[in-house]
Amino acid sequence: MSNYKSIIEQYEVDVYPRRDIVIVKGKGARLWDENGKEFIDMASGISVANIGHANDKLVEAISNQAATLITCANTFYNDTKAKFLEKLFSITPRNLTKAFLTNSGTEAIEAAIKFARLNTKKSKFIAAMKGFHGRTYGALSATFKKEYREGFEPLVPGFSFVPFNNFEKLAEAVDSDTAGIILEIVQGEGGINLGQKEYFEKVRKLCDENGILLIIDEIQTGFCRTGKMFAIEHVGIEADMMTIAKSMAGGFPMGALLCSEKIKVEKSKHGSTFGGNPLACAAGYASIEFMVEEKLWEQAEAKGKYFKNKLESFELSKVREIRVLGLMIGIELKDKSQPVIIELLEKGIVSLPAGTTVLRLLPPLVISYEDLDEVLKVLYEVLK
Ligand SMILES: *Cc1c(COP(=O)(O)O)cnc(C)c1O
Repeated sequence: MSNYKSIIEQYEVDVYPRRDIVIVKGKGARLWDENGKEFIDMASGISVANIGHANDKLVEAISNQAATLITCANTFYNDTKAKFLEKLFSITPRNLTKAFLTNSGTEAIEAAIKFARLNTKKSKFIAAMKGFHGRTYGALSATFKKEYREGFEPLVPGFSFVPFNNFEKLAEAVDSDTAGIILEIVQGEGGINLGQKEYFEKVRKLCDENGILLIIDEIQTGFCRTGKMFAIEHVGIEADMMTIAKSMAGGFPMGALLCSEKIKVEKSKHGSTFGGNPLACAAGYASIEFMVEEKLWEQAEAKGKYFKNKLESFELSKVREIRVLGLMIGIELKDKSQPVIIELLEKGIVSLPAGTTVLRLLPPLVISYEDLDEVLKVLYEVLK
């Protein structure tokens, strides 16, 4: 075992199922290990590196800001934060007008839960089975998977779960104390399950009729991944709050809760030390600028269609179903996905699971067609 592996195994809390590789470098959709072996990245660090690894614009922005001002208390105004917020609200849904800036996805969900209780003076939440919203207590309480929850109880009270895309079951779960409904548009961790437009239209109406806040989690689907800047554009509804993170700042840790005019929060009721620091804001600005300049959502849509058409033209005996939206790709297998993921890695392709039987592919959106062809060739060999 290399020295790096043994050091990490010795000192890091053992929560991550590890792949047997030391990644030392990335560029675009490529990664390199300590021995110089090259990989095609079909994971993007779980939809984080949407603009590609070591993106030149991002590198320059982070370097310049690091030499100018890294940290600044949120009680002061800051030039980089102002420019970033203006940039952010040039691409987000029109009805969302304010942001609470965080360092991660789970913190954005925590803010949504707190603000929902504060604004509705109600306490309960409904989320979807197979949904994933994060690992801190509030977000974990909204997350369905038993293995993630077990051993950590008592969780935050008031959370219940209903099947995704089933409006009747959701409507039955609502009562007079329901503060919020928390949903992904496409369930990422849960297996790339695509939300239906009619479902979300009914959910929106249900929330309006019952004074419930609709919280849409776009942490994995946001920033061009699904072929739109945000996946909510596919279903054509408005969220009362929306959480974003992952690829928001090109890989630099950053998240946000976006709020509509309905949400009011008094001074000192919530806060963050690092959230919206100048370095993150500079990274976020450069990332969004790159997405817009390169029309990255169009690239995701075109490349996703190309990939899906080719994949569906193959005779793949190990595949049950293929679910694709933009470059958010789920390949449901007849058997466990883990052995396939390991085989792909041996053949130079980094991929992800989603649940036990789904192979999840989330490449950087800047990936070349040549790389997609290479991945398709290997997928055929492995899944035929
Ligand atoms: C990753 C993810 C989160 C949690 O984000 P962290 O930054 O890991 O805290 C929440 N919701 C969804 C849909 C995610 O994919």
